[in-house]
Amino acid sequence: MGAALAYAQTPEVIQQRLELVSRNLDQRRTTLESLFRQVGCATTEESVPHSREPNILCALDPENAGTIVVGGHFDFVDRGTGAVDDWSGVALLPSLYQSLKDRPLRHRFLFIAFAGEEEGLFGSKQYVRALSKEEKTGTRAMINLECLGLTTPKVWRSRANPKLFAAYVQAAAAAHIPAEVMDVDKLGDDDSHPFLNAGIPVLTIHSVTDANAGLLHSAGDNLKAINPRDYYDAYRLAATYLAYLDSKLE
Ligand SMILES: [Zn+2]
Repeated sequence: MGAALAYAQTPEVIQQRLELVSRNLDQRRTTLESLFRQVGCATTEESVPHSREPNILCALDPENAGTIVVGGHFDFVDRGTGAVDDWSGVALLPSLYQSLKDRPLRHRFLFIAFAGEEEGLFGSKQYVRALSKEEKTGTRAMINLECLGLTTPKVWRSRANPKLFAAYVQAAAAAHIPAEVMDVDKLGDDDSHPFLNAGIPVLTIHSVTDANAGLLHSAGDNLKAINPRDYYDAYRLAATYLAYLDSKLE
């Protein structure tokens, strides 16, 4: 990896943004929009069937050909605070925008905070459904951030595109973070699924294990469940990975 890696944010800022989690859905959305604004990205909305909330989108270098989608979801199951599932993922999106925005990029990056994940992947299904054929073939990758910081970062390998997984291993080595694998086919689904169904290469980064899975969708899903060091490693790894994908993908 040639270029120096930009970790635009300190552990303190990453933790502060995580701690902005709210049990109020409108507040989650407003906080995200305000974080995107703070880092210099004007968001757009896409309305989602069966969901009161829209998807929130932020584009970086939209003039570039070839899109890398980076996703997480801001809705949550109304038990606990949904800090893990999935404020931990979605709250990283503005910071990842920040880590990339001053680099010369080859791709268009689209950061999407999906709505309505828990009730049936409504936001991601809508996004994929609305893509034209050209937009689908122009989407080089969908990287999903789900439930981070419970443990060290892990990849859902059985669902991941092999090329994206190989690149992840490289990026993890560069970030000096082990490239761990944990398949969660039996534990749940996520917003990568509609992209996978559309033939788009996907890779999900998460931190779920058999031991901690019971915490999701329970009162145990709160800030205390998140280890700040593991969470910051997830940020560093995702930032490194996205920069690496930008240099490697067609
Ligand atoms: Zn989730």
